[in-house]
Amino acid sequence: MTTAVETDRLTPAGPATPPAPATPQHSKFWQNAHYYFDRVYQNMGLDQTWRAVLAAPERVLTVSCPVRMDDGKIQVFSGYRAQHNNALGPFKGGIRFDPSVDRDEVMALAMLQTWKNALVGLPFGGAKGGVVCDPRKLSLGEKERLTRRYCSEIMPIIGPEEDIPAPDVGTDAQVMSWFLDTYSMMVGHQVLGVVTGKPVALHGSVGREEATGRGVMNVLRKFLTTQNKSLEQVKVAVQGFGNVGFHTARLLDDRGATVIAISERKSGIFCSSGIDVDAAGAFYRDRGTLEDFPGCEQIGNEEVLTCECDVLIPAAMENTIDADVAPHIRAQTVCEAANGPTTPEADEILKERGITVLPDILANAGGVTVSYFEWVQGLQNFFWDLKRVQDELQKVMDQAFDAVNAKADEADCDYRTAAYTLAISKVAEACRLRGLFP
Ligand code: NAD
Repeated sequence: MTTAVETDRLTPAGPATPPAPATPQHSKFWQNAHYYFDRVYQNMGLDQTWRAVLAAPERVLTVSCPVRMDDGKIQVFSGYRAQHNNALGPFKGGIRFDPSVDRDEVMALAMLQTWKNALVGLPFGGAKGGVVCDPRKLSLGEKERLTRRYCSEIMPIIGPEEDIPAPDVGTDAQVMSWFLDTYSMMVGHQVLGVVTGKPVALHGSVGREEATGRGVMNVLRKFLTTQNKSLEQVKVAVQGFGNVGFHTARLLDDRGATVIAISERKSGIFCSSGIDVDAAGAFYRDRGTLEDFPGCEQIGNEEVLTCECDVLIPAAMENTIDADVAPHIRAQTVCEAANGPTTPEADEILKERGITVLPDILANAGGVTVSYFEWVQGLQNFFWDLKRVQDELQKVMDQAFDAVNAKADEADCDYRTAAYTLAISKVAEACRLRGLFP
């Protein structure tokens, strides 16, 4: 099977050269990621030298993964790995298994990952990968064979010093175990640092599974203190009930917040006095849906976004808060646990309506932060206890929030603009210091 490598390397341009524009052919998500990036470059007085370099991924690898299905037939799945920028360190970012995956989606997610890693001070660049498939329709064996083939196809550009994948939508610790095993078999020895999000039994990090949700909780708690509020005082709605949505809801519930609405792909539930999040989690794991969860009103997905609450947490997919739904959102705060859930048009509407948005590159950075801890532990073969992981995570998230909050005050701007300004400045500075090769 041949592998197509598209080298999208750009020639760095001087200040006069405009950045590579997002074209109409590009998907909405890539255009949005590009728009947020460009807006900061235009409005925040950043050094223009590296603008064109940062406007597009360094490399996008497209692969075809033939897999023998359980019925004996061969099915070919398309996959991608986009590497946006590695000025600050090896590429790092998740792997998504979902029918909606495409080249532009991984490009957008890789760009967001670069800013996120820089914002929280991790020594990584940004990457993202994905395979176009519906993991819920694959048997365990099919999923394993697909993972192993995809891993071997992108093997030329991944590695513990090059690019380190992790779980994202539709992938989990089991998928990371197959990744670890495939890569290790191919190089002839165990390479713990090649992926993060591994099970603890395979030297993953304690606390990684809940880390994104814990980071969301930390950021929201810090933000509320700036409003003289606490988690006990807020009613929360969560869209998406996978890894991120479940752990976010559970940790908020544990700390006294009232989780009144939760949705997954097919259905949603509402209870004004608070949902039993642990029970809902067990029900969802068992049945794969929240439909018929007892003691709650069944509501549609959109109603979760627009219900009467204090904090709305999109924790599903990109572009879910758009210009149609934004005028109807009743929360005072949107905390972006998903990547790219708010379109730029919706972002403007929320701003005009006085709704604060805690941006994805800050709010959901807890996952990659503990992935970083896992990578460090794997390289050293020295493993931390849960308290250390949680304490170090909180330190990183608190510092990142404080920096974004201070920047927003100083520049009199929203949190997204502040976070992007800090992150892009760090990456541009790393590019400047490293200079150009050759
Ligand atoms: P997941 O596959 O574990 O869960 C996704 C959840 O979203 C599922 O409950 C699914 O039913 C639900 N969903 C999908 N489409 C929906 C829709 N239209 N409406 C309502 N619910 C919908 O994925 P995850 O790992 O929880 O990731 C969720 C988001 O968080 C993604 O944007 C991902 O990129 C981002 N994220 C994940 C991590 C991580 O560590 N897993 C880290 C940072 C950011």
